[in-house]
Amino acid sequence: ETLYVELGERTYPIVIGDGVMRQVAALLQDAGISPASRLFVISDENVAPRYLQPLKQALVTAGYRVADCVIPPGEQSKSLAVYEQVMTRAIEAGLDRKSAILALGGGVVGDLAGFAAATYMRGIAFVQVPTTLLAHDSSVGGKVGINHPLGKNLIGAFHQPRLVLYDTAALRTLPEREVAAGFAEVIKHGLIADESFVDWLEEHAERLWQLDAEWVGRAIRRGCAIKAAIVSADETEQGQRALLNLGHTFGHAFEALCEYAVLNHGEAISIGMCLAAKVAERIGFAQAGVFARTERLLRLFRLPTAWPNGLEPEAVLDVMKRDKKAVGGKLALVLPRAIGQVELVKDVDEQEILTAMKEEA
Ligand code: ADP
Ligand code: ZN
Repeated sequence: ETLYVELGERTYPIVIGDGVMRQVAALLQDAGISPASRLFVISDENVAPRYLQPLKQALVTAGYRVADCVIPPGEQSKSLAVYEQVMTRAIEAGLDRKSAILALGGGVVGDLAGFAAATYMRGIAFVQVPTTLLAHDSSVGGKVGINHPLGKNLIGAFHQPRLVLYDTAALRTLPEREVAAGFAEVIKHGLIADESFVDWLEEHAERLWQLDAEWVGRAIRRGCAIKAAIVSADETEQGQRALLNLGHTFGHAFEALCEYAVLNHGEAISIGMCLAAKVAERIGFAQAGVFARTERLLRLFRLPTAWPNGLEPEAVLDVMKRDKKAVGGKLALVLPRAIGQVELVKDVDEQEILTAMKEEA
């Protein structure tokens, strides 16, 4: 099954299903990437041993020339040093402006490979083959980039993929913690824009958690569709797109203060979405019950909702004020009005945020 994402004058397909990786060659051709193009696959050390050979085999059989580069797993690889190594390999492999870079992996590989594709000879074709659920978030919207020692995602670009090939079979080798983390972004899309999707997630949590192909496929498709609708209305983040940051101002602060080790991204934004609901209820912005339902839903997917051990609310608030989204030191927070409805609230009273955090800590 295929979802088409329309952005500006460009439309690209997100192909979702069990075993779709086997169709990679035909799908590349459909996307205008013919065997005359050299391909460069970027993957990580956990994903490559499982999926790189079959992918390359399918491509080579169809006549493509394929080189690859396998990077260490984890956020540390979204660095200038690894970016340089990848670029060196790409140049050595003889990529030219007609070549394409394929990302085979999760969000880390996707962000790095996308940035490499955006900057190699001022931009070449990019194809995503996500192997985590979380990658559903990075596969729509075109944000690619790497980290700087002074902050996450500070170096980047907008570069849309030509094709996203989402093989749900690959999700079954994910560690449980990564599965839960991936659902955090899926849940986020429901909480932002679609109460009926939240009902559906609540109803089918168990099946989804088992990674039943058909149900996970539906969840990915719906999550991507919601994100695509928001992003296409606002490709460069002037307004609406900011709503996608639900839970992220808190979450990024947790991640930074834990030095990206104790909590992964999905876990951090899970706790962040709970806090956003808590603040929203405190200041009378949200209906009563939004916090309780948010927390319950996240728990159904085995996500953490409690305050991270050992963090000081004051320290979290300080980091939040330095977030990319903060303008002139004032905090703007995405807060729920109801389940399935959020708004960007400027000038949220810091004291209210601090009190909400202290209640949780
Ligand atoms: P995310 O997609 O969650 O942002 P990563 O790219 O860091 O994050 O992937 C999370 C972890 O899961 C990494 O250690 C990665 O190597 C591993 N991983 C990714 N996809 C798979 C998979 N399909 N099977 C097993 N491990 C995987
Ligand atoms: Zn996120």
